[in-house]
Amino acid sequence: MRIDIITGLPRLLVSPLQESILKRAQEKGKATIVVHDLREYAHDKHRTIDDTPFGGGAGMVLKPEPIFECIESLQRERRYDEVVYLSPDGEPFTQRLANELSLKEHLILLCGHYKGVDQRVRDALVTREISIGDYVLTGGELAAAVVVDAVVRLIPGVLSDSESLLSDSFQDGLLGSPQYTRPADFRGMKVPDVLLAGDHKEIERWRMEQRLSRTHERRDDLFPSKD
Ligand code: SAM
Repeated sequence: MRIDIITGLPRLLVSPLQESILKRAQEKGKATIVVHDLREYAHDKHRTIDDTPFGGGAGMVLKPEPIFECIESLQRERRYDEVVYLSPDGEPFTQRLANELSLKEHLILLCGHYKGVDQRVRDALVTREISIGDYVLTGGELAAAVVVDAVVRLIPGVLSDSESLLSDSFQDGLLGSPQYTRPADFRGMKVPDVLLAGDHKEIERWRMEQRLSRTHERRDDLFPSKD
């Protein structure tokens, strides 16, 4: 999979893309992640990428020309499955959407800043708008990092133990089960006996019970509604 991220603040993405699973996914050749600095597509002396909003009001808006130029130059190179704009008014990002995107070959992620991007970018170029939650970030870079992380770890071969992601929260509609590691007794807090006894059927049953009760307690909305 190849993901192109377009941003006016590329440095914000350096560390998230160069550590842990995302680093390994790129080293293994499972994902290619390319960050594009929007300013390189601005041609005036000051490399301006924003301007004041028509109609007045506070804040700046990302100009259409550099974004059009960047996206169109990428689209001349390859066919993109989606051009995603990260936006608080987009569709909510969920594990289901992460699974869907992990099956794509080429994605563009566009990060907004200030008041966002000129609407004509959204109308003409963007095929999908994604929000990572009901709150407002300063820019789309951290949202893009969240989406990339959640998507890339799902690509087959990225995680060394791919079974582990099958029992992650949301993967099958339930929250995950509690996890313990050594020592079995820490300051008098003991690991449940069932996890120490080595009966794998019992352990599976215990974990499923924990997942169901945790989901009921914390996220009853994840169960199909009864009416
Ligand atoms: N004026 C916009 C609004 O009211 O919807 C908010 C702009 S926000 C300050 C700047 C940029 O951060 C957005 O263009 C978007 O790219 C990104 N952003 C902010 N919150 C986000 C969220 N919850 N999910 C995804 N992207 C977000």
